[in-house]
Amino acid sequence: MNQFWILPPKVRDELLSDGLQRHPEEACGLLFGTFDGQIGFIQRYLPVVNHSMAPLHSFELDPAVWVRSNFDTQLIGIYHTHPNSPPLPSPEDLCQLPNFAAQIRLYLIGGRSPSAQDKPSSGPDGFRIQAYAIDSNDGDYTLLTVHLQDSKEG
Ligand SMILES: [Zn+2]
Repeated sequence: MNQFWILPPKVRDELLSDGLQRHPEEACGLLFGTFDGQIGFIQRYLPVVNHSMAPLHSFELDPAVWVRSNFDTQLIGIYHTHPNSPPLPSPEDLCQLPNFAAQIRLYLIGGRSPSAQDKPSSGPDGFRIQAYAIDSNDGDYTLLTVHLQDSKEG
């Protein structure tokens, strides 16, 4: 997909540390920023309470925070973690996607990777962040891998 997203180191560190602090439960939260059709810029992360009944294996954003944030024109994406598995969308993630997809463009997953080659988005313990764009096709939503970089220059 012909787009990329800028994740400043400060925000990346907030995402990674939220994931590590809430381990072994899944962390989740909202991302705010801008997107001009090709370049996205993630400006701010808001950690949100995980309301899932099974927080070790799934996430559910606090509904009150989610609804309130829908009025924020800078709402651009969501983030959640896979405490002990790679940052790949799970069947449940894809199943829940229609709940968010109309309001956001970016879907970030933090997770563990056996390879630590994915700098700059990797943190301690091989924990790294993978970015996906939300694509829609006749009401069907899919996630497409997109590139994340530190700054405009990459
Ligand atoms: Zn997931």
